[in-house]
Amino acid sequence: MKIVVLDGYTLNPGDLSWEGLESLGSFTCYDRTPAEEIVGRIGDAEIVITNKTPITSETLSACSGVKYIGVLATGYNVVDVKAAAEKGIPVCNIPTYGTSAVSQFVFALLLNICHHVQDHSDSVFRGDWTSNQDWTYWNFPLTELADKTMGIIGFGRIGQATAKIAQGFGMKVLAFDEYQNKDLENDTLKYGSLDEVLAQSDVISLHCPLFPSTEGIINSESIAKMKDGVILINTSRGPLVVEKDLAEALNSGKIRAAGLDVVSTEPIREDNVLLKAKNCFITPHIAWAPSESRSRLMNIAVDNVKAFLEGSVQNRVN
Ligand code: NAD
Repeated sequence: MKIVVLDGYTLNPGDLSWEGLESLGSFTCYDRTPAEEIVGRIGDAEIVITNKTPITSETLSACSGVKYIGVLATGYNVVDVKAAAEKGIPVCNIPTYGTSAVSQFVFALLLNICHHVQDHSDSVFRGDWTSNQDWTYWNFPLTELADKTMGIIGFGRIGQATAKIAQGFGMKVLAFDEYQNKDLENDTLKYGSLDEVLAQSDVISLHCPLFPSTEGIINSESIAKMKDGVILINTSRGPLVVEKDLAEALNSGKIRAAGLDVVSTEPIREDNVLLKAKNCFITPHIAWAPSESRSRLMNIAVDNVKAFLEGSVQNRVN
């Protein structure tokens, strides 16, 4: 079997090994694949592995040998999964590798907004503390999370892990999901409608996948329903948010701050409105990337291909 990895660099910039996949067939790994080279590089390969390189219906028609598509991520919106299903091609993702890392990162963003740790450290190193007349000072309002409400949109693995951490901080959790498991409810965790989550939360964290039904779920209309001064965290997918509407809300103060690990186009474009918005903290899609979770991802990607070769497809999404 020919195995082609179209964009392996971000998973394995050199600190992991491709040995597992290498041992399963004739293996080629490209660091990155530009759009015009996707078809040529897949060629007659049967097993195609992608992280963020799109696999469209046209690509699948042009590469008729493809029998399996592996996505090196949880979110699989880069693949036309319907077109793949119509051709009988399983698309398999990596569902659980990053649950702890991503939920931890939600709080890296949130705690930065609450305490401005780096800003204050920079201020100390600039000499501001040395020259201060008091024993303490702060340059930004500081926020305690206890007793605040964390609204979680998309209450799957990462949403639930985020809820546990939020509860650890003494927060109440209000969750919205298309599918509700009432067994998860307790004194400090309840499900609510989307409108209830928007209206009652002090912090809103997005954890639903990017689907046509969730694209632009945060827009001027949904923002208008939120509390004044809400904090928005997005570690899921950029297009969940209409960025122009978020920028307006940040600039007006309706949304107090946003912590974003994902944006509509990645890498972020120079003209992205959020780069000039007030109180907007943006990281370059790193929530998934601690070495522990990347190793886990690599192992599951190998297991997925093994399972396919043994005739028992696992982690299929289509
Ligand atoms: P999951 O499948 O366990 O959970 C997703 C939840 O969203 C499910 O419970 C589903 O019912 C719910 N959902 C689907 N449509 C919805 C809708 N219209 N409204 C509300 N809820 C809806 O997935 P997960 O492991 O929790 O991951 C969630 C997302 O996190 C992924 O899809 C991916 O986009 C993102 N992610 C980002 C990073 C990163 O590095 N920033 C890493 C991993 C995952």
